[in-house]
Formats: sequence, C-alpha cells, structure tokens
Amino acid sequence: MTLVFTPPAITTVPVVGGGEFPVRRIYCVGRNYVEHAQEMGYTGREPPFFFMKPTDAVVAVPDGATGVVDYPTVTKNFHYEIELVVAIGTGGRDIRAADAPQHIWGYAVGLDMTRRDIQGEMKKQGRPWCIGKGFDQSAPIGPITPFAQTGELLAGAITLDVNGTRQQTGDLNQLIWSVNEIIEQLSQAWTLQAGDLIMTGTPAGVGPVVAGDVMVGAVEGLGVLKVAVR
Ligand code: MN
Repeated sequence: MTLVFTPPAITTVPVVGGGEFPVRRIYCVGRNYVEHAQEMGYTGREPPFFFMKPTDAVVAVPDGATGVVDYPTVTKNFHYEIELVVAIGTGGRDIRAADAPQHIWGYAVGLDMTRRDIQGEMKKQGRPWCIGKGFDQSAPIGPITPFAQTGELLAGAITLDVNGTRQQTGDLNQLIWSVNEIIEQLSQAWTLQAGDLIMTGTPAGVGPVVAGDVMVGAVEGLGVLKVAVR
C-alpha cells in the first residue's frame, strides 16, 4: 500500500507514571448533573444523550504544565465545562453496568470547551452540535491516572477556577447517569474500543472565558488541569 500523503500523527494523552495513552474516539455526555441541566433550562432525569468530538481536538496537558487554547473563531461566548474523563482500556458492546469497571483503563480531568452561542443557535434550529462542540482544541485533557492507582471513582469533588475564582463545584456522586450506566448505554449504540475517552458531563456554573484567562480544573484524586486562553 502506498499512502498518497503522510498521515497525521496519532493523538495521545500522557499517563501519570509514564507512557502515552493513544486516543481513538471522544464520546461526550450532555446534561449529566442536575443543577447544570437546570441552568441550561431543563429539569428532571432524561435518558442520557451523547455527542462526539474529533480525536484531534485534544489538547494534551502534561502534569504541571499549562495548556494553551486559542480563542476560537465564530463565537462570542466561549464556555468552559469541567468534566471527569473516563479512558477505556478494554472495548466491548452491550457491556452491563456491573461489568463496566473492568473496561476502564483510567481517569483524567478534561474540559469540554463550547461555543455556547453557536450551540444554542443549533439547538434552536434543531441542527447538529458539531460546530458548537467539536471544533479544534475543544478538548483539553490532563494526564490519565491508571484505574489500578485510583480504584473506581464514585465520589469526589470536581471544581473549576477561572483566574483564581471558583466557578464550578460539584461532586462525582451527583452524576445523573453514573459512569457505569454511561458505559452500558454507550456500548449499546457503539462498540467501545481501547483508546476511547468519555467526557462524563459538567456540574453547574458554566460560563465564559476570554483571551488571557487561566482555568484550573480539578477532580479529587486526579490532580489538576491548567489551561490558558490565548
Ligand atoms: Mn459537557
């Protein structure tokens, strides 16, 4: 086989303790914390729903480093959403929630960066969210901590500070759909494979950032993710 041009490099995320996790796909869950669903104008438990980001939207931020994202084009309302990221190490389809932990390779802190104005417009028109969610550099992610070190993350604070001020606060135990339920439902719709990342939803407090702002996100047990907007 002769490739007609050099393919792009694969996307990887560093692993705490060494090595790189090769990323296959990025699945995202919408409205998965009650108070965030309320702030977006929704109430009650609705079935989980999913969207995706392109793999090369990842901005991998090594431990202790500050990642940089450029303020994106075609938006005037660039929002942060701090999220727990689940990294899949063993694929499968029709995975039962009870078996889901066996498929998790590790966890990371991630940001589901969003063109909120465009997303809102697409919602209103019943159009796909791609342009609001799946743009370049829309998925900053910190290093992945292996499941072997963390065990199953069922509770723990998840927070985001912007320029030193706390903007988002939640707890993993407030997820409307648990990580295991998400894996169960996702694997009914797609065959999960090693290298898949799942962004599990954001707690309340989403808001805008502008060039010059610095975001520091954290999940208890996973360290911090620091990202500057340029
Ligand atoms: Mn999100």
